[in-house]
Amino acid sequence: MTGHDLRIAGLIAALVVALGLALGYGAGLLVARRGDLPGAPAQSPAGFTAPQAETLPNPAGGSLPGYLDVYVNDYADLLDAGAETRIRDDLIGLYDRTGIEMTVLTIPSLSDYGHYGPIEPFATALFNAWGIGNAARNDGVLVLVSRYDRNMRIEIGSGYDPSWDARMQRVIDDGFLPDFRDDAYQAGIETGVDETIYEITGHYPGTYDAGTFAQGWGWIFRQLGALGNWLWGLVAAPLAAGGFWLRRYLRRRPRPCPECGTLMQRMGEEADDEHLDGGQTLEEFLKSVDYDVWACPNCAHMDILRYRNWFSGYGACPKCNYHTLSTTTEVLRAATTSSTGQRRLTYDCKHCGYHDTELRTIPKVSKSSSGSSRSSFGGGSSSGGGASGRW
Ligand SMILES: [Zn+2]
Ligand SMILES: [Zn+2]
Repeated sequence: MTGHDLRIAGLIAALVVALGLALGYGAGLLVARRGDLPGAPAQSPAGFTAPQAETLPNPAGGSLPGYLDVYVNDYADLLDAGAETRIRDDLIGLYDRTGIEMTVLTIPSLSDYGHYGPIEPFATALFNAWGIGNAARNDGVLVLVSRYDRNMRIEIGSGYDPSWDARMQRVIDDGFLPDFRDDAYQAGIETGVDETIYEITGHYPGTYDAGTFAQGWGWIFRQLGALGNWLWGLVAAPLAAGGFWLRRYLRRRPRPCPECGTLMQRMGEEADDEHLDGGQTLEEFLKSVDYDVWACPNCAHMDILRYRNWFSGYGACPKCNYHTLSTTTEVLRAATTSSTGQRRLTYDCKHCGYHDTELRTIPKVSKSSSGSSRSSFGGGSSSGGGASGRW
């Protein structure tokens, strides 16, 4: 690549990124603020049955939900099993890394517990009845979502100073409510929990050990992800088109002959095949590698350039070295939590007939990490700090 090529490539890449970001950002601004939707009745529909723990008495009157689990109690049934597992893993990770007990509770409505006023005193009473957080640090966090009240609260332990209320408000407004307004509760809870963890620790779940650069990109991708899938299309389409354009430009650009300096000419696909050997022709046929043949019109110098298809299912053959090796996997015995499993890999080269099989051990299915064995809270208390939001 010459310096000129590099400059053009850089310019194209910068334009494409700028265009993609501008489109995504502009569209994001357009949809970011929607008016409040009219609230649904604060009564749960009849026949609502999600598994519930025994209720606890509320010192202020009525009752409080009990808990079956210290991480997620989805009594309003807003989360599917996969989301519940992801959120639980994030909260276990938070506890394992920081000792902070954070818990998510969804309920159909406050009236199910004989509570008809604002959500705040209910959340404080619940926080203290459960004893969320370390009893000395009072660093617990409760996320309470009341579906049919269209109301939520993040209640935080008394160890957080009052400046944390505004930070929790930001998390509610930007993390939870945008999806809640579309009745996308699962998406809202997943985003909101991640944002809460980020606000508290400065790290998104699973990035506690990442460097600044990785964290920065993680943040950018999360912001883009929050724009919604169709907006991703607006960002991704010009990126993909630009990538294709750039690759095509670099591949097709005229190049001087290394012998005499005359500009060489690229030969067509049929002409290519005359100059490729059997293995190379098979690679082109299997689409694992693409070849361009360039010929000098002046001195007959010829270059064969090789472009690997990174998405091809064919690997390199250890015998003939062409990318004509297929691999198939067969599970002979599935792994369980108590025993390892076994799978067989079969390699076949379409070019030279090389054949091999290999047995591999599948590791035991791991049980969740240490934090998951916790079965009760640490005895923390709240004096009413946190933030609330309606949608
Ligand atoms: Zn030449
Ligand atoms: Zn081979």
